[in-house]
Amino acid sequence: MSQEHVIEIFDKEGNSLGAIIDAEAWPAIKPILAREFGLFSKQGPEAKPEPMQDWEYLLQYWDFPYPPDYDVACGHCGQQTENWSKDDPRLFRLRAASLSGLVTFICQKCNARIIKKHFKNEILTETHPYLDDKDALKEARYNTSAK
Ligand SMILES: [Zn+2]
Repeated sequence: MSQEHVIEIFDKEGNSLGAIIDAEAWPAIKPILAREFGLFSKQGPEAKPEPMQDWEYLLQYWDFPYPPDYDVACGHCGQQTENWSKDDPRLFRLRAASLSGLVTFICQKCNARIIKKHFKNEILTETHPYLDDKDALKEARYNTSAK
């Protein structure tokens, strides 16, 4: 990147105040800011990043007698996808994934929590509407078994 794409700004004492990035350089910079600082996401900065590492672990140690499944359907508002990881923007955001096969998504349309439980012979899907999200006991139990 040539110098003229980025103009650094200093105060009178020479302390760095920041930088101005021109329109040509911006598309290259923006994804880095998004990745490093969680900026520009539709959910705002307070949205937790998806735990993709956990999902990768689950795939890596997948020992169920069927291939990994990528379809997600919301039992509350009916939104569905064939492959949540390919949706851009996401229809469902990954909230949690554990080696035990418990995968949780948040429906981006109605905020419901979709829990996919992978067992040897079947996959059970539960939808918890957003209002029921305060079921702390249940959540705690899931977390314990997941770790
Ligand atoms: Zn939904």
